[in-house]
Amino acid sequence: MISTTLQDAFNKQIGNELSAAHLYLSMAAFFESLSLPGFAKWMRLQHQEETAHALKIFDFLVDRNGRVSLQAINAPASEFESVEAAVALALDHERRVTADIYALHELAQKERDYASHVLLEWFAAEQVEEEKTLEEVVDHVRMVKDDGAGLLILDQRLGSRTTAE
Ligand code: MG
Repeated sequence: MISTTLQDAFNKQIGNELSAAHLYLSMAAFFESLSLPGFAKWMRLQHQEETAHALKIFDFLVDRNGRVSLQAINAPASEFESVEAAVALALDHERRVTADIYALHELAQKERDYASHVLLEWFAAEQVEEEKTLEEVVDHVRMVKDDGAGLLILDQRLGSRTTAE
């Protein structure tokens, strides 16, 4: 059985993950509008990955005899100033998610909930990967700047991603 405090916090985190998923899907639409199918595909896979994160917490709450209650998800931005602005926003978002995970860690510690710790350790490691990957994308976008050919190479590279992991 999970405490009500932790249950509420995990329900909030399900909302955070779904709102990240929503944002990435919106970015996929933005990149489609720029004829950058590789960026769009990459963001669509991010969307799947964030949905999987939400479901991982969903399943955890169910396993712990908790109650899942979904929250409203705000509409994400649909326009972004530039390719760079969009990917930089995605990176910012991931950094915020990392902070959310750390806060959950502290709460789990306070509640002496060791099972939550195991789950959150997985998420902490996952965030290292998420931030690393997005930092690289942001760096590469900054490297090509206004070079269209460079951007197309990057688009092809991002389009070669096949799994939502
Ligand atoms: Mg996530």
